[in-house]
Amino acid sequence: MTDATEPQPQPQDFRFSLRDLTHFPTLSLLPKDNDPSGSVDLSYYEDPGDEPDGISDPVKHWCLLVQIVYHTATDKELIYNVRDREGKNFFVVFYREGESLQLPGKKEKESGGGKGGGGERPWQKYCKPGNCMAVMYACSHVFEDGALGVQVTESENVKSFPCSLDTFLLLGDELEEPPTKPKQCSACDKPGPHKCARCSVRQYCGKDCQTNDWKERHKNECAAFQQINAWRERDWREFDEYWID
Ligand SMILES: [Zn+2]
Ligand SMILES: [Zn+2]
Repeated sequence: MTDATEPQPQPQDFRFSLRDLTHFPTLSLLPKDNDPSGSVDLSYYEDPGDEPDGISDPVKHWCLLVQIVYHTATDKELIYNVRDREGKNFFVVFYREGESLQLPGKKEKESGGGKGGGGERPWQKYCKPGNCMAVMYACSHVFEDGALGVQVTESENVKSFPCSLDTFLLLGDELEEPPTKPKQCSACDKPGPHKCARCSVRQYCGKDCQTNDWKERHKNECAAFQQINAWRERDWREFDEYWID
């Protein structure tokens, strides 16, 4: 059902919101990846019909947003205890594949693992407790002990942002409101003609305010703004290919 010749969809009537459970579902709303009944959740996937492999394409894009509570690792897995916006705690588990550990969001650094000795491993730095974690195309998974969680097989579907889930959602709310004020410095009351070059959201009167605001606040929100803005430009209702950026 994927036709590559389709023109770029114009998401005019699509109102993007991180609060939209159709595209940003909580754990209880995710499709199941090992449903014993073998049925396919048609709000997420095309009907596989009589296809012998039983694999069907998604019908939309979705992303699970959670807050990391703590992480731990075994020889075989990276384990994150997370909480979704309903307050439900569960585990997001990354399995080691062969020699290398699948690192969330860091495809290029997973080989070897010898990152120059002590200190934090890259995955510990990237996905810290307290961070918001985003898992594209997450499915709920029943683990061996019967607990419901999420098993990650494609680590590039996972990103982490240095702010809480609540903050991430509030930053999304902020971008939904059309800018009404004249361009004002985000840190003082002066006019702010200089935009942050990374996210283009915060504006400043000059270097001093920008530097101070970066230290105090913006370094924890800039990456989130960039991601949310990139998501906002897309139409989440039509599946074309898996988004990994
Ligand atoms: Zn200023
Ligand atoms: Zn920025």
